[in-house]
Amino acid sequence: MTIFEKIIAREIPAKIIWEDDDTIAFHDVNPQAPVHVLIIPRQVFATHDEIKEEDRELLGHLHVVAVKLAKQLGIDNGYRLVVNCKEPAGQTVPHLHMHLLGGRDLRWPPG
Ligand code: 5GP
Repeated sequence: MTIFEKIIAREIPAKIIWEDDDTIAFHDVNPQAPVHVLIIPRQVFATHDEIKEEDRELLGHLHVVAVKLAKQLGIDNGYRLVVNCKEPAGQTVPHLHMHLLGGRDLRWPPG
């Protein structure tokens, strides 16, 4: 069980700001921007690489949630969505998650 499944199961605390049947979102414990939220499906995908055609509605839903949260958190003037896929790209938790970052100017390219 990953740390994110434990957050879903309320076994460890998190600042949860969104929940529905398919997704949950909470503030990142180590924020990289003034607003740094993780939006995750309840269903476990170890990496983005596991997504299949039948998952398109769920993945689209993550984006719809991101739009709502960006407005709710006051960063809809500019924000970044990031999915790190596998360790070389910076993934540390093997449960697909979308980072929602904002509240400061974000540089490009990322590190
Ligand atoms: P990744 O590096 O896999 O793309 O992102 C994992 C994210 O999960 C990191 O930004 C990290 O700070 C966050 N994280 C790891 N453990 C916890 C935790 O226990 N609680 C919360 N809220 N975030 C966590």
